Amino acid sequence: MDIKKIIRKSCIGFEPYVAGKPVETLKRELGIKNIVKLASNENPLGPSPKAIKAIKDNLNKIFFYPDSNSYELKKALSERYRLPVGNIFTGAGGDEIIELVAKLFFNSSDEIVISKHAFIRYAMAVQLMGSKAVIVPMKDGYSHDLKAMFKAVTPKTKAVFITNPNNPTGTYNTKAELSAFLKALPKNSNGVKPLVILDEAYFEYAKLKKDYPDGLEFLKDNPNLIVFRTFSKVYALAGLRVGYGFANEVVVDFIERTRPPFNVNLLAQAAAVASIKDGAQVKKGQTLAKKEKEYLYKEFKKLGVKYLDSAANFILFNSSPLKGKELFAKMLGEGVITRAMDEYELSSWVRVTVGLHKENELFVKKLKKIM
Ligand code: PMP
Repeated sequence: MDIKKIIRKSCIGFEPYVAGKPVETLKRELGIKNIVKLASNENPLGPSPKAIKAIKDNLNKIFFYPDSNSYELKKALSERYRLPVGNIFTGAGGDEIIELVAKLFFNSSDEIVISKHAFIRYAMAVQLMGSKAVIVPMKDGYSHDLKAMFKAVTPKTKAVFITNPNNPTGTYNTKAELSAFLKALPKNSNGVKPLVILDEAYFEYAKLKKDYPDGLEFLKDNPNLIVFRTFSKVYALAGLRVGYGFANEVVVDFIERTRPPFNVNLLAQAAAVASIKDGAQVKKGQTLAKKEKEYLYKEFKKLGVKYLDSAANFILFNSSPLKGKELFAKMLGEGVITRAMDEYELSSWVRVTVGLHKENELFVKKLKKIM
């Protein structure tokens, strides 16, 4: 039997997605004892002690299903961001949120506007649904060109993805740019403006920049806007898979109807609630990233390595004369995991996550040896 005959057509062309591997897997595969992982933009300080306590306190409850409505989590988010619970939804990380939105809205006749080097999961969600990705080149090569994205909008455009700041380039769009873009968007063939899906996974890092916009401020005037964030980054709960989004109540209502009933697990909900209430831990993560980015910029400059200023907790740097893949492999051999960027069509670039100072020092030491 040819199973491919019954597989959704848009899935046939799927390439396997190779996510960052866990440290233990690499130690096993490479036979190296000491490995430093600077590959997946996690916060090396780890989660809030309050989150750890909440997980421990809830361990004896895991024989129950989690609260399908994430009630406590939505309540905590509602208090923290001063928005009604009806405008909030949750998911198993930003990754699931991208898929929930795609499954709800994207049809095969739709066009979805995406920046060339934007976070890769958007294009994959578009492909999954059999929609057409309209890829727009970036401004100066590395940042979302909102004017060009605007020009790419046609009556068939169902949605536009904006990553702010963008992974892997670390670049961001200013409040003035985003505001002008949202205002100017024309209506599509359904007589409504295309959805704007604003990915703010690195919000807490980027908000230290003066002209970085808080997407939530635009929700009131833009019912076509969906903003989402995650607990995987500054909150350091990547292993638990929990993210959250804000949108018009009609959008939220339909996401609620179509999502899997228990998509956010019980420990994740408890840890996320405790994390939101621990501002001090967020501050520590922000401060570390800011200080260590300065250290890495300084070292890149000394080495004559080109890099992009980042509003997030990672830096994209140029690996020339080596290919990114080669530098990645050499670094791996030295026990430092970075991320090559071939899947983003940035074959001479490597992304490094900003780690603890001693991890960054090790990275620099190995970079000096290799380059
Ligand atoms: N958006 C961006 C821009 C990201 O970098 C990531 C993580 N790599 C995500 C969304 C998804 O993160 P998570 O599923 O862990 O919330």
